[in-house]
Amino acid sequence: MIEVQNLIKKYGDTYAVDDVSFSIKQGEIVGFLGPNGAGKTTTMNILTGYLSPTMGKVLIDGIDIMEKPIEAKRNIGFLPETPPLYTDMTVYEFLCFVYELKCCDLNKEKHLNEVISTVKINDVKDRLIRNLSKGYKQRVGIASAIIGNPKIIILDEPTVGLDPQQIIEIRNLIRILGKSHTVILSSHLLNEVQAVCTRILIINQGRIIADEKASNLLGSLGQSTKIKVKVSGPQKEVYSILNSLPGVTKITESGIKEGDSFTFLVESKNGIDIRKPMFNALAKKNFPIMGLENTEGELEDVFVKLIDSDKRR
Ligand code: ADP
Repeated sequence: MIEVQNLIKKYGDTYAVDDVSFSIKQGEIVGFLGPNGAGKTTTMNILTGYLSPTMGKVLIDGIDIMEKPIEAKRNIGFLPETPPLYTDMTVYEFLCFVYELKCCDLNKEKHLNEVISTVKINDVKDRLIRNLSKGYKQRVGIASAIIGNPKIIILDEPTVGLDPQQIIEIRNLIRILGKSHTVILSSHLLNEVQAVCTRILIINQGRIIADEKASNLLGSLGQSTKIKVKVSGPQKEVYSILNSLPGVTKITESGIKEGDSFTFLVESKNGIDIRKPMFNALAKKNFPIMGLENTEGELEDVFVKLIDSDKRR
């Protein structure tokens, strides 16, 4: 659906995008992740035909965006980081305007009503855009991106500046869009792409440094998996059972004692899930597991590690 070949964008002597290639299949929800200044917006702007690359090629559904921009762009709905909205129009007026601008040939009223219902802005459709909350403005931006039923939706930092409730709502909306569209979303937030995307591309200093399923990202980097487990039983004995499990690399006793339960942080080798053998071994001794959780920040660690090792190259 999207084919990016050896993309380069230079500003003066600076490479904002430095030989980036990837392809995205129909139906994927891809997160484009990187720290600020990594080259996300520049790449998005080239994908949408808004900027031309210094070198390289972008094919949208087989169409070269530089050679046939109008045809290629018909397949794309774009939500820039700051959505361009005419704030003196009502929501409905604005969507009609976008419909005309995109020269849509779908049944206008039916299509706009579908769009309004998908992004859930029915209750504000007659309000002036300038009076809407930031979350609703973002929905209107997304509505304008999906007018004309493009196959691909590209969203640049779609939740920046929203409050936690609005973030949840916009992420849910992106998941819904992902059922019927190919979606690329850029973000500097790991938990965002992890929550929504099926695949993660990590960009740093203009280069792709990882391209993985979120679940593979941990394993492929040799990162250990950490779980926190609370077990009811004698501390020393539980420790030695945990320590004997295959794949376990390190155990840290948290020092937390609740009744007769102790909490341990258990690290295991990349890709090894110790939960089942741990359950069986502890059950055999009649030491019940009172709590179990994956520790947070694992992917966050990977992200920082990746960026660090890229800097040292
Ligand atoms: P991101 O979206 O990941 O934060 P950008 O694509 O905006 O990153 O920027 C990538 C790099 O290119 C940064 O170093 C930025 O300063 C530089 N850059 C972006 N736009 C311009 C421009 N118009 N002129 C000069 N440098 C730019």
